[in-house]
Amino acid sequence: MLLEVGKISERGFSLDFQMVVNQRYLVEGKADSPFDIHLELERKGERVKSRSRVQGKVKLICSRCADEFSYGIDSEFSVDILPVYYLREEKVSLQDKELDTIFYKDGKIDIEKLIADQINILIPMKPLCKPDCKGICPVCGANRNKVDCGHKIEALNPKLSQLKPIPEVKNGSA
Ligand SMILES: [Zn+2]
Ligand SMILES: [Zn+2]
Repeated sequence: MLLEVGKISERGFSLDFQMVVNQRYLVEGKADSPFDIHLELERKGERVKSRSRVQGKVKLICSRCADEFSYGIDSEFSVDILPVYYLREEKVSLQDKELDTIFYKDGKIDIEKLIADQINILIPMKPLCKPDCKGICPVCGANRNKVDCGHKIEALNPKLSQLKPIPEVKNGSA
């Protein structure tokens, strides 16, 4: 989905649409249902300002139990989109670098890539199907969310070990 920069009105416009994100654009996860996109674009010469809201779901694999689960995404972004030759000609100011800036080439913005990049940012490094996912039993390999295999496991998770009762210390002075 390529948008010609020259066709973006200087007064700006907004667009609501659904988009199935091409799998090759996603670093992680599977997008199997379309995303709801609200996109606002505004142009000043070659510079484009984009504001967008992305809502949808990505299928991820839980980093603890390896089950597939649905991860909800609902986020807003603002980015500046500049022609890529600005980079070569060092027209990109320090201020531009501080803002979220992306680049377009051949006078066209790849909207699908723009949206996919925003989804990629939101996908956690170690996704969890639920915050208290019990993971896989290292003894028998059972998914401990589904099966209580009864194996005792030393807590590897610091949160779990914090829950262990603190050994009683005899207070000599009492
Ligand atoms: Zn899990
Ligand atoms: Zn087990």
